[in-house]
Amino acid sequence: MADLYVGGKWREAVAGGRRDIHCPADGALVRTVSEATRADTEAAIAAARSAFDEGPWPRTPERERGALLLRTAEVLERGAKEFARAESLDTGKRLVESEYDIADVVACFRYFGGIAGTSAGRVVDTGREDAVSRVVYEPVGVCGLITPWNYPLLQAAWKVGPALVAGNTLVLKPSELTPSTSILLMRALEDAGLPAGAANLVLGAGAEAGAPLAEHPGVDVVSFTGGLETGKQVMAAAAATVKKVALELGGKNPNVVFADADFEAAVDFALTAVFLHSGQVCSAGARLIVEDPLHDAFVDELVRRARTIRLGGPFDPAAETGPLISAAHRSKVEEYVAAGLAEGAVLRCGGRRPDDPALAGGFYYPPTVLDACRPDMRVVREESFGPVLTVERFSGEDEAVRIANDTEYGLAGAVWTQDAGKAQRVARRLRHGTVWINDYHPYVPQAEWGGFGHSGVGRELGPTGLDEYREPKHIWQNIQPRAQNWFRG
Ligand code: NDP
Repeated sequence: MADLYVGGKWREAVAGGRRDIHCPADGALVRTVSEATRADTEAAIAAARSAFDEGPWPRTPERERGALLLRTAEVLERGAKEFARAESLDTGKRLVESEYDIADVVACFRYFGGIAGTSAGRVVDTGREDAVSRVVYEPVGVCGLITPWNYPLLQAAWKVGPALVAGNTLVLKPSELTPSTSILLMRALEDAGLPAGAANLVLGAGAEAGAPLAEHPGVDVVSFTGGLETGKQVMAAAAATVKKVALELGGKNPNVVFADADFEAAVDFALTAVFLHSGQVCSAGARLIVEDPLHDAFVDELVRRARTIRLGGPFDPAAETGPLISAAHRSKVEEYVAAGLAEGAVLRCGGRRPDDPALAGGFYYPPTVLDACRPDMRVVREESFGPVLTVERFSGEDEAVRIANDTEYGLAGAVWTQDAGKAQRVARRLRHGTVWINDYHPYVPQAEWGGFGHSGVGRELGPTGLDEYREPKHIWQNIQPRAQNWFRG
């Protein structure tokens, strides 16, 4: 099937390449898709360029653009079952989690559709009676959108929604491993009536199909979600054409538990924080930082429960979490655990592949807890992006903050305490883009998402997430022009 979407047409890759997509839960073949090369991405950029420069979309009133997003949300909601199934087959995640993801995608389209046309810029006080001035917001142009495999459709929605509502045109390049829901998204946009060329899709490997989105002079902004090292490459490539860059990179997120926390809730959320989607979550609470007096009881209970977490495929009703995305990724996770043990961590549970023959066909790795960790260990500093929890301990507020901020990342974190004042003080001092108090993981499309430090540049969601795709323009008008005679001649 032709599944690159360029200039409003479905087509095969120019060089005829194909790629098999396998389910990481059991290795089953999910589908075969077109594999783009640079030539396809360049064609998609040309289509987006011409749709931006000459097409109707940037000139469509913002409220109508918003209405299209709302229609898209309806199409997505009607097709939620198909979308969720496709997402689960590509990623291996439990169907119920994919269903939550699709509901979040719908909410994201509704948010950006709903705020469309609610602001026409702002009037600026010139301090003069003979001049008026206003600031308006215009689309940036052609957007190159590059997304990862862990939340394929959700990450695409966070970019496609604001990019389109702001009047841009775009080329989307999802992870080579998880193309299915991006194909379905293009069909949903088509059904909702998006003009040809406004959204384009290329599928394929990052270095081949994705790189032109950072390099090409025809792209005005590149928005990337993925790993830190790839993000650096994208930023460096974008520098040559001075394009705008938005980066959502990883995190090494602290979950700080004070001795006065609600024990049961804090243990329960500490598990969800890190083991949801087998830790393949950029905001995973992979660093548990527990206050000394609570440490032993807390970790004992957490380990007891972690041992009972059931692994399984997307459609196994008994499964509580799924496989890792690929064999290569599982090996990377194993290397991090080995590095932690070599540096003195104590293995409390997990740490080796499950021996259940029913899981042999997938890339499973069990919930793993490493105690006695220190901030200088590799497994604590770098993102394993797997079900690996490191445990550190602290004494008092200042030390909690110091340890939690001792990371090059700064995406998200949580603080657990029943002392409301302490919770607020610590939350204010954490250098992370999202801080939860007595909770973990919730977000809403109305609030900005993104990180301090190496977790990225810019923000997604919320009003700032829309601004990533808009250029402010200052328009000044002299309403009573008279010669100034600055130069007398
Ligand atoms: P990668 O960085 O490997 O890939 C992300 C995307 O970039 C993929 O589409 C990939 O293509 C593409 N890519 C790879 N090389 C290039 C290149 N040279 N030029 C342009 N594009 C390229 O990340 P993963 O897919 O492995 O995702 C996991 C990472 O994403 C984690 O580190 C995680 O923290 C981060 N992440 C961050 C989030 C956030 O909100 N901050 C949210 C979700 C994930 P392909 O895969 O096809 O090769």
